[in-house]
Amino acid sequence: ADKIQMKVPLVEMDGDEMTRVIWQQIKDILLLPYIDLQTVYYDLGLKKRDESEDKITVEAAEATKKYGVAVKCATITPNAQRVEEYNLKQMWKSPNGTIRAILDGTVFRAPIIVKNVKPFVRTWEKPITIARHAYGDVYKDVELKVKTKGKAELVFTGEDGQAMKEVIHNFAGPGILLGMHNLDRSIESFARACFNYALDQKQDLWFSTKDTISKKYDHTFKDIFQEVYDREYKEKFTAAGIEYFYTLIDDAVARVIRSSGGFIWACKNYDGDVMSDMVATAFGSLAMMTSVLVSPEGHYEYEAAHGTVTRHYYQHLKGEETSTNPVATLFAWTGALRKRGELDQLDALVEFTNKLEKASIETIEQGIMTKDLALLVEGDKRVVNTRQFLEEINIRLMKSL
Ligand code: NAD
Repeated sequence: ADKIQMKVPLVEMDGDEMTRVIWQQIKDILLLPYIDLQTVYYDLGLKKRDESEDKITVEAAEATKKYGVAVKCATITPNAQRVEEYNLKQMWKSPNGTIRAILDGTVFRAPIIVKNVKPFVRTWEKPITIARHAYGDVYKDVELKVKTKGKAELVFTGEDGQAMKEVIHNFAGPGILLGMHNLDRSIESFARACFNYALDQKQDLWFSTKDTISKKYDHTFKDIFQEVYDREYKEKFTAAGIEYFYTLIDDAVARVIRSSGGFIWACKNYDGDVMSDMVATAFGSLAMMTSVLVSPEGHYEYEAAHGTVTRHYYQHLKGEETSTNPVATLFAWTGALRKRGELDQLDALVEFTNKLEKASIETIEQGIMTKDLALLVEGDKRVVNTRQFLEEINIRLMKSL
């Protein structure tokens, strides 16, 4: 049969270690036989980042702005040990951080659900997507440890020399202090990214803060979301039959646990950090979590939520077979290709990605899976290595085409 044609290329960002190996296997076994795959390729493997003084990461992010949709493999964020291992010129920054800063994006994480992995929360039937604000708060704070008696004040000096001042606390003895900030502009982009994504997914959007206690800081988040919603999104939400719902974070937590899922939960930076790990764990496995970065202009970068699975890579280097789970990486590809298909009105491509995802889920539901899932699945199961697993998916995909 003829291969599916593409109109606009995907931005392809290759990565490191085990996920780099899986990346190629996914392309060889499940994509290239069916699609005339067009990509603009950037090798974000650590060696190439080092050679290019990390310029390649910036170029890949710029290309995402140009073409609109990217797919990214997991990459090593260097630490001291990696600097030695790869003999690096310097300790390059996290590629994800660099890309996020350039796209000014919000990260949405959602679990891939299979029937035989039961979420720890019995009522959860549909995925819960966490949208995490990726700027400011405690991640860009300044902190002090005070040793003596004294007065702590919060001071803002305007450009015009005008000062605003509040007493934080009169210390009678040793203690700790923290100052943090956020920006209206960043909160607005976050709000828009969430509203756009909710419309894209046709799911309700929840947002929560602690505005009753934090009457200026958190309340500003609440107000900005409401203003952006009323001004730009209310009519679109009504037309799409979806809802925007604000509630206090403690109320949100209680409702999330009792819900059946199927919505997007927007969280401030710290809340999103904590809640996305809770949601991932409760749904089963990091290897089944997808992640997409969405910019306020509507650029998309798809990836798996997990890292490069270093431990398996060292086994692979010794010539051992590994049973690494490729599902989240595969869904990064299907997510990106589906988005490309929607934007370019390529029904065949959209249909293909739907069938490929279905074949993957079916494979696991029929008891064929990688080792990580075997620990979570009840009932009959056969553990296979990564290549065998991808080939089993291919058998089911071929039947459906
Ligand atoms: P990791 O996600 O690679 O592994 C964490 C744990 O989960 C390990 O026990 C691993 O075996 C297991 N695991 C994760 N994905 C799996 C899969 N697909 N199949 C089977 N098991 C899986 O995270 P880590 O070990 O903390 O980091 C390894 C490297 O990945 C580091 O160099 C780090 O910088 C990088 N990293 C990259 C990203 C990214 O590019 N988005 C994210 C996290 C970590």
